[in-house]
Amino acid sequence: MVSLTLSLGGCTTVMGIKERAFSPLPREVSLEGLVPRNHFYRRLEETLDLSFVRDLVHHLYARGGRPSVDPVVFFKLQLVMFFEGLRSERELMRVAADRISVRWYLGYDLHEPLPDHSNLTRTRERFGLSVFRLFFERIVEECAEAGLVRGDELFFDSTKVEGNAAVDSLAPRWAVEAHLGGLFEEGQAADIAPAEEIDDVLPSARDAALWEANAAGRDWISRDGAQDRSFKGPWRARTSDTRASRTDPDATPMTWGTSGRRLGYQAHYVVDGGKARIILNALVAPAEVTENRPMLDLLWRTCFRWKLRPHHVTADGKYGTLENVAALEEAGVRAYLALHESGSRPGFFAKGEFRYDSEADVYSCPAGKLLRPLGKKKGEDRADRETYYRAKAAECASCPLKPRCTTNKNGRQLRRYPGERHVDVVRSYRGTVPYEKALRKRKVWIEPLFAEAKEWHGMRKFRLRTLRRVNAEALLVAAGQNLKRLLFFGGRKPRKPAQVAALNPPAAYIDSRHFRRYRSGLRGQPKSILQQAGSNTGLGDHVPIKRPERSQGVPKLGPDS
Ligand code: SF4
Repeated sequence: MVSLTLSLGGCTTVMGIKERAFSPLPREVSLEGLVPRNHFYRRLEETLDLSFVRDLVHHLYARGGRPSVDPVVFFKLQLVMFFEGLRSERELMRVAADRISVRWYLGYDLHEPLPDHSNLTRTRERFGLSVFRLFFERIVEECAEAGLVRGDELFFDSTKVEGNAAVDSLAPRWAVEAHLGGLFEEGQAADIAPAEEIDDVLPSARDAALWEANAAGRDWISRDGAQDRSFKGPWRARTSDTRASRTDPDATPMTWGTSGRRLGYQAHYVVDGGKARIILNALVAPAEVTENRPMLDLLWRTCFRWKLRPHHVTADGKYGTLENVAALEEAGVRAYLALHESGSRPGFFAKGEFRYDSEADVYSCPAGKLLRPLGKKKGEDRADRETYYRAKAAECASCPLKPRCTTNKNGRQLRRYPGERHVDVVRSYRGTVPYEKALRKRKVWIEPLFAEAKEWHGMRKFRLRTLRRVNAEALLVAAGQNLKRLLFFGGRKPRKPAQVAALNPPAAYIDSRHFRRYRSGLRGQPKSILQQAGSNTGLGDHVPIKRPERSQGVPKLGPDS
């Protein structure tokens, strides 16, 4: 440092000038010493051993030739991109190059050249969506092993995410598919797992009939959320049936706030009801796919994959369709869904305001009059048939509530669908404490997860294009969100209720004062709570007292929790 002395109006000010001079770093300086002991990436490295990813991808590499980027380094870079909120591989490598902590996390010394950003893009394409899904599931497994998944309560929700394409790129679908179809075939081929590997994983895969049945059944997850073009909506043709984007052919038009239309997707989450709010499943579908349609596939996959038997499933009114409600109730899972009252005219009584009496097979209206089935023979069972119910025209004509009920001069008419008895069951949940509590809990359980993903982790707009890539992007965000919970809650390890009950001593012998001291990690004291409850603990004499019920620390189970 040199200095200049300036004399300004009698004052003397010394201006410092920093000279640029760098001497070689001493040999004893290493990244190990430069990264602080309590740095975030050190905790991440301690918590998550990523060596499992080599097993996930080993079949995608050749036996000889030039070594590739280590798959562990690739996934570490993906996690850095998530935690640093970065939007591109170029930016990621620029950040990694001059961040000591990131270099330490990746295992690259100060003088070692980092992989090129183009390597990351090629590796992502080589792995394909299936590897990203396995990676996500492995993170969920880690969370489950840490006791963060409760499994008796599942929440469903979805959010619109803008695609990386403009509305102006829409063109006739036939022209886009003819032009782009060939370009994506190569990438999709990498996603198909080798047959012999599947044979190893699934013991029943040699059953030819089962194999054929599975191949024919194309659920939403196995087709990566792609729309089934043979499915037609009841009201009008979809824009996306005839037009597709030249930039991202899978993004479809959606309404976007007050600013009109955008092209985009719908990201679906299935979230556990436990305190850690672990995301158990994630799927991205085009925006044209309504929320209710992938729900059952997501639910069955989640229950099957994680061996869960939820007591109830909670979601908003967009999921409360007859098909979803009936499937849940028939499977013995309570459908705590807000009911989808579509078709009811604004300002008129909705169907939910009419009470159904299953024994008499009649509806009673808000004015207390009966709506009887039309064309039903005496003793006939119409549970599996669509039936119309109508009030008497004379009763409706003289009813003071008619302006809010119907304009039909023949009287108000209702249509009852097969399986609607399940919807009646859900209507009977309304007003009960568990049902109302579950719907309130939904707002603070799953919606903030989307806010977090959008605000902090770039899910307001996907950076990649096409369904397979945006699904991989969303799975990485969901895995990162789970990882945050694993880092935060992992140390505390909430135990499973059975474990807590087994570890707890009989209530009569607990001294809550000593119990608290035990829990706060008091050093030098006996580790067993039962020992503390004895008279030889050295903590002073105490009279064993009956523990209050609420201090048992056993997590509550069931809908009230
Ligand atoms: S108009 Fe008919 S169906 Fe509607 S409330 Fe009155 S009596 Fe009941």
